Amino acid sequence: MRIAIASGGPAALPEWQAHFQAFDPAIEVLGWEAAQADPAGVRYALVWQPPHGGLAALPDLRLIISAGAGVDGILDDPLRPAHLPIARMITDSTPDVMAEYVLSAALMLLREGRRMALNQAERRWDILPAPRRMQDTRVGVMGLGQLGKASALLLARAGFPVSGWSRTPTELPGVRTHAGVAGFDAFLADTDILVCLLPATPATQGILGARTFERLPAGAAVINVGRGSHLDEPALLAALDAGRLSGAVLDVFETEPLPAASPLWSHPAIIVTPHYGATPSRRDRAQHAVQLIHLAERGQPLPHLYDAARGY
Ligand code: NDP
Repeated sequence: MRIAIASGGPAALPEWQAHFQAFDPAIEVLGWEAAQADPAGVRYALVWQPPHGGLAALPDLRLIISAGAGVDGILDDPLRPAHLPIARMITDSTPDVMAEYVLSAALMLLREGRRMALNQAERRWDILPAPRRMQDTRVGVMGLGQLGKASALLLARAGFPVSGWSRTPTELPGVRTHAGVAGFDAFLADTDILVCLLPATPATQGILGARTFERLPAGAAVINVGRGSHLDEPALLAALDAGRLSGAVLDVFETEPLPAASPLWSHPAIIVTPHYGATPSRRDRAQHAVQLIHLAERGQPLPHLYDAARGY
């Protein structure tokens, strides 16, 4: 059994091979170039942003395993064999790891983490007003999938009033939910910290933009852990500079790594993190991929498949 890897580049290959070897020595792990040169029997591919045309050049391929929870880097390939299933990388720990990121980001916003870091760098001791409390800060989570649900539940357990928004109606204990375009504005009106955990689709592109920001209460803040395509960066900067929004925590960007020239890096109200909201370790991803391969080999249903009809 052979798997081709396009994730982390050639330097990561020995580590992938060691992890796969530990979980199932019968799986032969090939780097991308080696698999392209000798594709016979390559039934699986573990990929993040595979070179365009590379998947189509693997004639025995039967399952594409995304190296991340999103599949946008795979859908970008116009030559992708569209009939093949794509499994999203949702390991056992991914939802909780993301929920911990979102909770810490919300607390950093409450406790003015960015301002504290800037002040410390200048040895500056500001006398600040008493901090806003969790129970007085409404958090709204856009996207109530695996990650959005776990995040909403942890925020609610911590003491934030939480609401959520999804495409179709969703019920979640202790969380007020809204659905669809019709429910969007009411959801925004009740949200002091807006969390984006949507998938990247045509319908969600640019959703963190001027229209959305105008419908949030004045002084609201934004956490984007979905995808860079969700955020209209100039609109965010304009809303922050106008005082319409008070802060943002951004983990994902249109261009990654975020270019050194980006104004997001130095903005005094923005915390930038390097797409590490819930990135599983290579070991965890290899373990999950091996589980998927075993299920596929036995002809059993695979969890968290990309659904082409929904677009995510
Ligand atoms: P799921 O596919 O499980 O859930 C997606 C959610 O978004 C669902 O609730 C869905 O609604 C909702 N949704 C989709 N389209 C719309 C729309 N047009 N309007 C309203 N709601 C919509 O995704 P996950 O929770 O697993 O992951 C979410 C995203 O998080 C990933 O796609 C990825 O981009 C990002 N991510 C980021 C990571 C990071 O490290 N920063 C790590 C992992 C993921 P419904 O319930 O009706 O289907």
